[in-house]
Amino acid sequence: MPSPQSSTLTRNILIGMLSGLVLGGVLNTLGPIEWLQTYFLGGVIEVGSRIFMASLKVLVVPLVFVSIACGTPSLDDIKKLGRIGSKTMILYTATTALAIALAIIVALLVSPGVGLNIKLSQATFAAGQTPPLIDVISNIFPSNPFDAMVKAEMLQIIVFAALFGVALTMTGAAGKRISSVFNDLNEVILQMVLILINFAPIGVFCLLTKTFATQGFSAILPLAKYFFVVLGVLFLHSIVVYGSMLKFLSGLSPITFIRQYKSVPIFAFSTASSNATLPVNLEVVEHKLGVPNTIASFTIPLGATINMDGTAIMQGVATVFVAQVYGVDLGMADYLMVILTATLASIGTAGVPGVGLVMLAMVFKQVNLPIEGIGLIIGVDRLLDMVRTAVNVTGDAVVSCIVAKSEGQLDLAKFNNLKA
Ligand code: ASP
Repeated sequence: MPSPQSSTLTRNILIGMLSGLVLGGVLNTLGPIEWLQTYFLGGVIEVGSRIFMASLKVLVVPLVFVSIACGTPSLDDIKKLGRIGSKTMILYTATTALAIALAIIVALLVSPGVGLNIKLSQATFAAGQTPPLIDVISNIFPSNPFDAMVKAEMLQIIVFAALFGVALTMTGAAGKRISSVFNDLNEVILQMVLILINFAPIGVFCLLTKTFATQGFSAILPLAKYFFVVLGVLFLHSIVVYGSMLKFLSGLSPITFIRQYKSVPIFAFSTASSNATLPVNLEVVEHKLGVPNTIASFTIPLGATINMDGTAIMQGVATVFVAQVYGVDLGMADYLMVILTATLASIGTAGVPGVGLVMLAMVFKQVNLPIEGIGLIIGVDRLLDMVRTAVNVTGDAVVSCIVAKSEGQLDLAKFNNLKA
């Protein structure tokens, strides 16, 4: 069975992605053809997409729990856990704030919403309930671990697993016995991830055929400026910010990083979900980028939940865009508020498709922008969601490498692909 490291597999995933994109686009252009809709798109492709998404998601909770329970006892002291945690949190928060600031600056320079002829009466968006900050913080601590797992509450699972891992270290011989069972279990679950990755070319093909057959590109035209500003900043952030961080904070080659990591953004692009990409991200970050399990088991699940630079970029551009369309003048203080709210909003919001818009409603409320303005950009959001999710997961991997390198724990031979 080829490993995800194998270039044949990566090539096949890429072929699956491109074929899905093209076929979906063609089907969208042809319009609804009944038998195709019923048997192909609504049948084979729909079933393939659902099975692939379910198979990715089913691994998330066991993987996060077991991997953290294994990783914590290997951190020889608790201080180290605190140090790794603080570095990670600082980098996650700083990159998100930087991403949204960059987005606001570029959007102000390009002015995507000025002179746009959009019928405002057509904009509709119903904001859901957004939880108050005290709930967001207190909800990190689980009252029932099984409930947390059933609902895939990532932060609660992380807290419980870390506590369990710390207790294992303190329990002497019994702790060692259980630890060794968990280490074995970890190997088995990673093997399940590898099995699944081998089906990725088909899964990615189904997901993308379905998305592009229903989405099409026509919605982009009236919003072209907004769409391309978001894409441009996503690109800029990935290349310039992540590239410089790797180079200047850790002395790592951004090119090698891309070469080793490239299959993960394809998963993120196809699923539009950081959560569903988590098993693959963890696998690649540990086995291809050389971040040890002790660090990756924390940083990657934590990042899937709280680090969303791509989402923050969309929010920055969307704020400027909607303010310009509605002719609202936002001042410096408003933009600082946008940066603060968007950064805080990303904490405790799970990485699932479309959640960025829910968070955007929180941001708009803070600066008194009309919530229904979100309705203006909803038509192109799925396409942007796919790209920003790829940026979200890449940010988690970059920070993981930097933290591991700063702790002297990055396996450079793996990173540089010097050993099998
Ligand atoms: N889909 C994104 C993610 O899972 C979140 C969003 O921007 O909607 O990371």
